[in-house]
Amino acid sequence: MPHPSRWLKPLPQGLWCEPGGFFVDPTRPVDRAVITHAHSDHARPGHRAVLASGATLALMQARLGAGACAACQPLGWGEPLRVGEVELMLQPAGHVLGSAQVVMTHGNTRAVVSGDYKRAPDPTCAGFVVVPCDVFVTEATFALPVFRHPPAEAEIGRLLASVALFPERTHVVGCYSLGKCQRLIALLRAAGWDRPIYLHGALAPMCRVYEQQGVRLGDLRPATVAARAELIGGIVLAPPSAVADRWARRLAEPVVCMASGWMRVRQRARQGGVELPLVISDHADWDELNATVDDVGAPEVWVTHGREEALIHAVGKRGVKGQALGLVGYGDEDDAEAPA
Ligand SMILES: [Zn+2]
Ligand SMILES: [Zn+2]
Repeated sequence: MPHPSRWLKPLPQGLWCEPGGFFVDPTRPVDRAVITHAHSDHARPGHRAVLASGATLALMQARLGAGACAACQPLGWGEPLRVGEVELMLQPAGHVLGSAQVVMTHGNTRAVVSGDYKRAPDPTCAGFVVVPCDVFVTEATFALPVFRHPPAEAEIGRLLASVALFPERTHVVGCYSLGKCQRLIALLRAAGWDRPIYLHGALAPMCRVYEQQGVRLGDLRPATVAARAELIGGIVLAPPSAVADRWARRLAEPVVCMASGWMRVRQRARQGGVELPLVISDHADWDELNATVDDVGAPEVWVTHGREEALIHAVGKRGVKGQALGLVGYGDEDDAEAPA
């Protein structure tokens, strides 16, 4: 049976599954796309037909409107679907709500495209499922030994300790609008924070879709209409671009926080004027990337984007053949992009 390198090919539009006649996360408009998740670098507008998880389709429609796709087809977790000469299946990737790994079986060979993923538990999305395969296509955003994410719960504990220590100030946390924002809210709720959480307007639409999809986020209020005094001692979430901006300076003595895997690098935090860096990432860290390669047992790993060299070197020492796909166009959103 043909090896996946014969039927799954990196083209300028993205990864092309020839026997299925579709692209995975294409960066240009195509006839048939399978989308791993709704971050804008993976879910682009203008495809004719899109297959994805139901939650991903809902998030795409909220972001892209009618331009999301002409024909949308949802596929449930673990449901096999025959597409051309390929058996297609989606399994959770644990990255954000709806995020999927694309499992393709052709003949008796199987390739899995992870999309973006993490292994740490996340109360807002289904956890990563290990799928044994012949070729594992992985991201490598944080593929350097320096990147080790602490438990997110401990970082939330640091945030709440700071809120308790500075009751006269307003904590404003920079976070991406899809995924990180809702995970922070859910983690705060799990840690017992039942007061209102205030949102910059850019974060509200994605929170609404999460709620519609059954993820409870509690009492959320717009930060823009709240009185300055109401926000004292409170927690405000805002996009990374807004926290260092005039927008945040109108708050009462703001404590600027940022939730990102990049906060592991002190220099980045200092450059961004971040007073309280929180190392919370929705991408696998170095240990998770390596453990996942071992768990899926693939003799061959292809790396889509990120720091491919270190990962390829590390898996090579364990007898796994690594290859950089050199796909361009990924990393425009979420942690793949360093905060400004
Ligand atoms: Zn992503
Ligand atoms: Zn990405």
